[in-house]
Amino acid sequence: MVKINSNYLKLKAGYLFPEIGRRVRQFSETHPQAKIVRLGIGDVSQPLPQAVVKAGQQGFEDMLNSKTFHGYGPEQGYDFLREEIARQDYKSRGAPIDADEIFISDGSKCDTGNFQELFSVDSVIAIPDPVYPVYLDTNVMAGRTDVIDASGRYGKIVYLDSCEDQGFLPEIPDFAVDVIYLCFPNNPTGVVATHAYLKEWVDYALRHQALILFDAAYEAFITDPSLPRSIYEIDGARECAVEFRSFSKTAGFTGTRCAFTVVPKSLMGQDENGTPVSLHALWNRRQSTKFNGVSYPVQKAALACYSQEGKAQIKEIISYYQRNARTISTELKRLGYEVFGGEHAPYIWLKTPKGMSSWEFFDHLLNQAHVVGTPGSGFGKCGEGFFRLSALGHYVDVQEALQRLARL
Ligand code: PLP
Repeated sequence: MVKINSNYLKLKAGYLFPEIGRRVRQFSETHPQAKIVRLGIGDVSQPLPQAVVKAGQQGFEDMLNSKTFHGYGPEQGYDFLREEIARQDYKSRGAPIDADEIFISDGSKCDTGNFQELFSVDSVIAIPDPVYPVYLDTNVMAGRTDVIDASGRYGKIVYLDSCEDQGFLPEIPDFAVDVIYLCFPNNPTGVVATHAYLKEWVDYALRHQALILFDAAYEAFITDPSLPRSIYEIDGARECAVEFRSFSKTAGFTGTRCAFTVVPKSLMGQDENGTPVSLHALWNRRQSTKFNGVSYPVQKAALACYSQEGKAQIKEIISYYQRNARTISTELKRLGYEVFGGEHAPYIWLKTPKGMSSWEFFDHLLNQAHVVGTPGSGFGKCGEGFFRLSALGHYVDVQEALQRLARL
């Protein structure tokens, strides 16, 4: 019989969302009349922008004609998209990123999950708590952790506590680590990083020759123009950071799939003899071997996100979600909840009332209000006692959920 990768057996049984699904299914079976409102999983509800669909349709039309047909594309993505990203997302904000440092992909989930393949198995990995679970689980699968302890934490991982008294910002360690995952605007807490805070991380990384993996999947939700949208707006980040971005939440691509990862050519790792090795070259090698690119029509569709028409339509969609977030935040505060996030991110992070645990509050909301959210403890130990509501749903559902919460 084939021997399996036993690191998979170290993974926490029952990943968060399947467990939520199980409880909701069980509740529906015993309460078939209940109309459940879901503010849990962070999928989007609004359709793709018109300009994006038109460009994608044109991309497929091109495939009809042998002169404009496209077969395998470059594994790194088409230049037309990479150049527009470099110009509009980076150079326009003073971030020195070139088109050939951008790798187009089919999602930030895969990229944030796959990037760790470039590191040795004994690299010391620092992960915030609470956190988007992909960073941790992929390192568990790769064998960088010991077994899980009674508190739900894995040996060998450096956990960066991001609790309420730290403003939900990961604490910077006073010792060296090799790799740090950061996510701003944050899933699940909804908090955002300032220049000053990111500068502290960049300085730390440069001091310790560490690498920051910066997940900016929600940058489109930043409302304050003075806040950094990219880590490359911080001096020195080209020497210590990789950035992940996605069209999923920005432009409704969760089902269409397009994202990108920025790997500056100045980023270096080292081999076992201490010889510097380009991370750009390694990621290029990895992608060329294991990935065959995003389809041409989808990249054409993504390109339309940068047209005047596309940008205006995306702004409207983001405003719709921001109104949801404002409505949830305002009403929950009025009802006496302690609420965080929601201003520069589509997530509202609330403190569970009366000292309930995250799962107790989940069951309470499901049973009493037929509303589904996400227990904070599913994102890590520091998420215990908190609860995430997503603003990415329909406004009518948000209103309905809030009316039911007011009646609790
Ligand atoms: N990064 C974060 C922090 C996320 O919350 C998500 C999705 O919810 C992703 C990445 C995945 O994005 P994609 O749809 O591009 O795979």
